[in-house]
Amino acid sequence: MSGKDRALILWFDEVGSGDTPLVGGKNANLGELTKAGIPVPPGFAVTAYAYKKFITETGIAEKIYKTIREIVRGRRSPKSYEEASRKVRSLIEATEPPEEVVKAIKEAYRKLCDRVGEEVFVAVRSSATAEDLAEASFAGQQETYLNVKGEDEVVKKVVKCWSSLFTPRAIFYREQKGFRHEDVLISVGVQMMVDAKSAGVMFTLNPVTGDRSQIVIESSWGLGESVVSGSVTPDEFVVDKETLRIIERRISEKTVERIRDPKTGETVEVEVPPERRRAPSLTDEEIVKLAELGKLIEAHYGSPQDIEWAIDRNLPFPDNVFILQSRPETVWSVRKTEKPAERRGEVGRVVLKGLPASPGVYGGVAKVVMSVEEASRTVKKGDILVTKMTNPDWVPYMRLAGAIVTDEGGITCHAAIVSRELGIPCIVGTGNATKILKTGSEYTVDARAGVVYEGIITESSGGDEPKEAAPVAEYVPVTATKVYMNLGVPEKIDDYKHLPFDGIGLMRVEFIMASYIGDHPNHLIETGRAQEFVDKMAEGIARVARAIYPRPVVVRFSDFKTNEYRKLRGGEKYEPHEDNPMLGWRGVSRYISPQYRDAFRLECRAIKKVRDEYGLKNVWVMLPFVRTTWEVEECLKIMEEEGLKRGRDFKVWIMAEVPSNVFLADEFAKLCDGFSIGSNDLTQLILGTDRDSQILPSIDPRYFDERDPAVLRAIEHLIEVAHRHGVTVSICGQAPSVYPEFTEFLVRCGIDSVSVNPDVVVQTRRLIASIERKILLEKAIGGGKT
Ligand code: PEP
Ligand code: MG
Repeated sequence: MSGKDRALILWFDEVGSGDTPLVGGKNANLGELTKAGIPVPPGFAVTAYAYKKFITETGIAEKIYKTIREIVRGRRSPKSYEEASRKVRSLIEATEPPEEVVKAIKEAYRKLCDRVGEEVFVAVRSSATAEDLAEASFAGQQETYLNVKGEDEVVKKVVKCWSSLFTPRAIFYREQKGFRHEDVLISVGVQMMVDAKSAGVMFTLNPVTGDRSQIVIESSWGLGESVVSGSVTPDEFVVDKETLRIIERRISEKTVERIRDPKTGETVEVEVPPERRRAPSLTDEEIVKLAELGKLIEAHYGSPQDIEWAIDRNLPFPDNVFILQSRPETVWSVRKTEKPAERRGEVGRVVLKGLPASPGVYGGVAKVVMSVEEASRTVKKGDILVTKMTNPDWVPYMRLAGAIVTDEGGITCHAAIVSRELGIPCIVGTGNATKILKTGSEYTVDARAGVVYEGIITESSGGDEPKEAAPVAEYVPVTATKVYMNLGVPEKIDDYKHLPFDGIGLMRVEFIMASYIGDHPNHLIETGRAQEFVDKMAEGIARVARAIYPRPVVVRFSDFKTNEYRKLRGGEKYEPHEDNPMLGWRGVSRYISPQYRDAFRLECRAIKKVRDEYGLKNVWVMLPFVRTTWEVEECLKIMEEEGLKRGRDFKVWIMAEVPSNVFLADEFAKLCDGFSIGSNDLTQLILGTDRDSQILPSIDPRYFDERDPAVLRAIEHLIEVAHRHGVTVSICGQAPSVYPEFTEFLVRCGIDSVSVNPDVVVQTRRLIASIERKILLEKAIGGGKT
């Protein structure tokens, strides 16, 4: 054994990535960074050797293993693991470590204090020593103690970390896997805590587009947990890796922060004072400094990194910038598949089946929630959100989810639409997910097949990478039929703007109303805050229109139903009860009604503001759920009064989603510049099948199927009549995002554009190109259908 092998303490600058057996993976990584000249908060590792010395010299090693053998073996029940854990942990925690070890820890802590110039708060963390073996044996049990101060406390917490090697779950895993308890050791890291003014994560590539020429920094006030857990929407800065120029900045409203209480030293969550909420949480020089460090770390490891960082509130720039952790970043893995899915190999039992509504595979912990209030309390970033059915006011929590599973709904329900847009795997219409899946348990959601497995399982084949991943650098064909994209969550445009779409074919404003505004528009009018509605709506729309200018954005006026409007703040007062809201007061009938007309005017004013004040003339509008021509005429009149008049650069589309639109296509064509087929509602109304109910489709899926001949015939007719009247036709329902043969049908009918979900933009473009070529070939050789 060399001196290093027998050291009780090793400072971070004495270790590197080869030293995992001595100090554990986490500490070795911090050492590696320190050595590479990266400013890591100073600290040291209490080595695995120190732990070994502790259990052998005090004579407890034998007792520990004997206790486990006696209690667990033979029984192997959850109770026995708990009992063994209790006994072993109290034995460890009651045993005084050897004098030499205690002295070494205390001395190192004092040295650390001398270095910093005061008695420092430290984080005390377990660090697994043999990654594969130990990860299984730790299984999420790595204990961490924050804000520890004073040498006695540090020793105490180190001992607690040691004892965490024997949690019931850790014992269980080792037993299950046949690992010897004797073979697993533990090191503990003791590191100065940064008193974070702001903190967050940094990716040395764009984690969404995969663009390696960019560095993306997410930042919020206080400690980094709020960013990592998703409890705030962080600021986002994009830096050009080459020039270190800040090329994009998105400042969010940051309502809460986690800080260290100056009195108790405890971490507490507090509200951010109003004046700081919308202020950038990083200065430009801090952003550039972080990006510089990101570049260095990436160069050091030779691969893109996912980095945690913090800015100290007490130190001057640049000494205040600290790197806390760095790990390799695998493109796309961030959102889609958590690491454990690759790590473990068990094949789980299928516990649930439903309709695959948004593709992808995801393993994580379930949170069963029955109300949006409950969701706000319990859903954390990366959870599997399990509920009856979602509503527009659920969107903020849906965005945190790693996957979504619902009891109800078909593939055009709210949960399905939103998940596809957000790129989150989703299964709907399971019937009883909220009863079968348990909060806190791990599952794998395979939303390609519509199946939920128990536990986290390994992907067997290449898996279903998010489809938007591929495009950026690859060849994308030109098509005569335009490919539009559906988008409702404004900030998602930043993720998708590089995709090869010709415009936004459907921007649903319900997301803005539920998530950005929150109040019922009539409530805002009544309380004198109407302008707030106009401004926030305009801001959301402008964000998208600006990002993709001059490509058009077709904004659909609101299409909530009464039950959904009622959920907005103050909504109960204005929304009557309807037995069938799906067939009720929605769409244009609302805009022309005395009860909503003024609110509709606000929607119009928002459009006008975006077009006239912001100069974004690429914003057009679309009317949903149109039943009759006279209501459109009345609606157009209101729009004109608000300064929105159809013209060369302002197009008004009508959604074709009520059968009357098809029968009277020639009449409706006179009132608009284009139709957009809402195949979700149109199918529902042609087949008479409630799109949100699973009862009929569970008898036979053909009860709700856009490929039904009646639906196809209606669409064919609409396109033909529309074209005869010089009006364009698009489609924005789910069908072309799901069925390639449906898209082929539309192209063969001569549709002008197809609007699909972000995840299928590229493949739809390719598909349409091949169909168009096929049609040309058929024409050239005189065969085919057209
Ligand atoms: C449709 O009905 O096809 C459509 C796109 O609108 P929504 O799904 O919002 O009703
Ligand atoms: Mg519709």
